[in-house]
Amino acid sequence: MTVLHENLLNLTPDEAKSRLGVVVAELGQPAYRVAQILRRLWHLPAASFNDMTELPAPLRAELELRFSLPRLAMTARQESKDGTQKFLFRLHDGEAIETVAIPDGGRVTLCISSQAGCALKCAFCATGAMGFSRNLEVHEIAGQVREMRLLDPPVNVTNIVFMGMGEPMMNWKAVDPTLTLLNDPRALGIGARHITISTVGVLPGIVALGQRAEQFRLAISIHAPTDELRQQLMPINTKFPLAEVIEAAKVFDRRVTFEYVMLGGVNDGVEQARELARLARECRAFVNLIPLHPGGGQGFVPTSGNEISRFARLLRDRDVEVAVRKSRGIDIAAACGQLRVERLGRRAPRAAEQNGDVQVA
Ligand code: SAH
Repeated sequence: MTVLHENLLNLTPDEAKSRLGVVVAELGQPAYRVAQILRRLWHLPAASFNDMTELPAPLRAELELRFSLPRLAMTARQESKDGTQKFLFRLHDGEAIETVAIPDGGRVTLCISSQAGCALKCAFCATGAMGFSRNLEVHEIAGQVREMRLLDPPVNVTNIVFMGMGEPMMNWKAVDPTLTLLNDPRALGIGARHITISTVGVLPGIVALGQRAEQFRLAISIHAPTDELRQQLMPINTKFPLAEVIEAAKVFDRRVTFEYVMLGGVNDGVEQARELARLARECRAFVNLIPLHPGGGQGFVPTSGNEISRFARLLRDRDVEVAVRKSRGIDIAAACGQLRVERLGRRAPRAAEQNGDVQVA
């Protein structure tokens, strides 16, 4: 039987602390080593145990025998004229995911993926078009932030949005402990209010997020103010219909954001603005209007800038707070799933392409 190295990066800080506590004691090392090692998992991440030079070499060797600190292999890195950076990571089984870093003033928002591919098939989304491969593990989700800290120079992430590939609430089992790693000061230490989970409206996920004590933010992809239209754009609406999603937003104990991608001639009419305003007021939601990124699903055209402003005004006139999201990284196709589609075509990647090296392209 092969002995698997235990992956320390799939553990929450409490779990890692107790595992390391046992091993450090077994090895006859002083207890303060535990905090030293813990700090090098996420806070000041080490690329390998060998890089933890503050530890004695024999201890590093012992840790190496027992544990692993898996990296994500960066196979592409592109930078937009506006400073947005897009990263493609290859996972151990050949799957590929993408991460986007968006600088804005003093902030850097990292848009992270929670699944390889996505099962939900929203009509305008590039990830939906590629289909679902698998859920990401805890270390693969939080690892996207860890890899930013390991760059030279590091990208200092201040905000997180779960708006990359996948539906986070369909992978709650991994997203839940990942939120702990992102937020815990012993791990990545990002404030809960700076972490946003975006969902199509998976009701059990919204309830679970609401039950967490931290003030994580919730964004819901609404995209249409009626069931009839929403069903056409988002097949998940048959399972979680609009009225129930709105109800869940209403009882969520923090303010929610509605995301609304502007699809020319489809969901951007005056009547739709009125309906959307009514729904937003019902749950005191903040509305984020998103210009359609080209290259998602086929057959849609973006609403013009002027028309988006007009739509926003209609909402504001009805006492709804609204912002128009800036399109970032258009020249590097930095919308959901687009880097992977560009690089790999629409087929799933094969394991044979796997290359464990970290190469910065
Ligand atoms: N599955 C989650 C999170 C990932 S998508 C969700 O749907 O909320 C993050 C946001 O990007 C969603 O609001 C999604 O609808 C939007 N999006 C997808 N494709 C897009 C495109 N081509 N242009 C603009 N926004 C898009």
